[in-house]
Amino acid sequence: MNDCIFCKIAAGTIPARKLFEDEAILAFHDATPQAPVHFLLIPRKHIPNILELGPEDEGLLERLLNKARELAVEQGCGEGGARFVINCKADGGQSVDHLHVHVLGGRALGWPPG
Ligand code: AMP
Repeated sequence: MNDCIFCKIAAGTIPARKLFEDEAILAFHDATPQAPVHFLLIPRKHIPNILELGPEDEGLLERLLNKARELAVEQGCGEGGARFVINCKADGGQSVDHLHVHVLGGRALGWPPG
């Protein structure tokens, strides 16, 4: 999608502090971190949100979550843990319409969300 900021990060046309990339997914630090550790994982493919994953995307979520888990440990969250979040559409608080997984850690996070 031409005007999607995460597609632009995936294409390398706007910068991001990348943690990982391969042919299918990308991880980078959130521009407005809400915790000492806060990074995002996205598919390269433009999928607007988790509800719009199709049968052709089989395995993609597992790939995103496995890499999220690995990177969370690398970023120092192995002991204290972390939160793995997928916001979806308006009620879920999604602001960028390209599927992404947030990983937040490095401090104790409150629950439930407001
Ligand atoms: P969400 O509200 O779940 O859609 O989260 C979108 C996240 O993307 C927010 O935490 C933003 O801070 C983050 N974000 C937006 N633009 C950028 C960017 N250019 N680079 C890194 N993170 C971004």
